[in-house]
Amino acid sequence: MACVVVRYHEIALKGGNRPRFVRRLIANLRDATTGLGVLGADSRQGRIVLRLAPAAPVDRVCDRVAHTFGVANYSVAVELPADLDAIRAAVLDCARAEPFTTFAIRTRRADKSFPLTSPQLGALLGAAVAAEVGGRVDLDAPELPITVEILPRAAYVSGGKRPGPGGLPVTVSGRVTCLMSGGIDSPVAAHRMMQRGCRVDFVHFSGVPYTSRASIDKARDLVEHLTRWQLRSELTVVPFGEIQSEIVARVPRSHRVVLYRRMMLRIAAALGRRGARALVTGESLGQVSSQTLENMQAVAAATPALVLRPLVGMDKNEIIQQAVRIGTFATSILPDQDCCSLFTPAHPTTRATVAEAEAAERQLDLSALVARGVAAATRERFVFPPELAVAAAGPAAPLTVRG
Ligand code: ATP
Ligand code: MG
Repeated sequence: MACVVVRYHEIALKGGNRPRFVRRLIANLRDATTGLGVLGADSRQGRIVLRLAPAAPVDRVCDRVAHTFGVANYSVAVELPADLDAIRAAVLDCARAEPFTTFAIRTRRADKSFPLTSPQLGALLGAAVAAEVGGRVDLDAPELPITVEILPRAAYVSGGKRPGPGGLPVTVSGRVTCLMSGGIDSPVAAHRMMQRGCRVDFVHFSGVPYTSRASIDKARDLVEHLTRWQLRSELTVVPFGEIQSEIVARVPRSHRVVLYRRMMLRIAAALGRRGARALVTGESLGQVSSQTLENMQAVAAATPALVLRPLVGMDKNEIIQQAVRIGTFATSILPDQDCCSLFTPAHPTTRATVAEAEAAERQLDLSALVARGVAAATRERFVFPPELAVAAAGPAAPLTVRG
């Protein structure tokens, strides 16, 4: 029977939490492969085996597995009885499938009751391939690595490991709210948090009616794209232009950007779903003049919420490379106008203090502004793959105000 053998590394290290992590990874793999002919997903001796129906689209299953955090690597395999003749025949089939000049047999015997040790089995199968198909053994960099894994009750023969995305299964670390502009950085920040096992909810602030809707369209496209790693997302869009004009009317020019950000954090915290444990931004230290340590501190002090900046120590080039790898870069560089650039002075402060920000805000009715942002916000759900959205259709979760 065809199957996909999934291996995890990091989650194996998590001591007492391990069963919970493995259960979550299995649930996420089942969810990710819905409708693709996966008959079962079972934990077997430190691996997860997805058993495929005969007509299952193997490439699509692999694509989904390759986007499931927690997967260290995986192989397309055949499942057989743990019987030497059957294993030998499957290894020879695998060797005959594609031309090669060098090969290696990698054996792992998790079931110690199997009569041969791993080296004995490797030597025997290697000799069989060399004699019946040809090729030379190269244990370091073989063109064709054939993996044989012997588990209790079954053996798995596969033609090589493919890399997974690593990290931790989404949801094991909890829920966070990402402030998502249409720019390059925040989608990368969101992806990093998903990789660390978080479900990410998104909040976008739009300068409408003082800007076009372009940034909203970009935020929607980016969330839709990122949803393939967590399967379900929510994007809340807050019309922020009127709130900004209120800030502009009452506070010193130099502090506008810092006060926009403080207001964004408050509104994002108020919109956060129950159980959301942190706010996430795409800030990177010193990348632009508003992202100094002083300003970050002055901004974060607006809310008791934990503010995480997963890109804080990254260079712009590294962030761009990552944006290209995860496929968000092309959307991020489409033209738009971010609301933070609205009414901003040529030389915003790089050294705001909490005291200055609080003094400036005394001119504002903060809770009324937060309430206005929350009341005008709209929420949209995303599902991956989009075809499943029809099945899952229903009203988006009602907006709830917290904090
Ligand atoms: P990005 O590429 O993510 O836009 P950036 O380098 O352009 O980042 P800023 O514009 O200074 O940086 O924004 C810093 C962070 O503030 C963003 O990464 C994002 O988390 C948040 N942010 C900025 N503008 C918005 C917005 N319109 N809606 C939601 N969050 C925003
Ligand atoms: Mg930006």
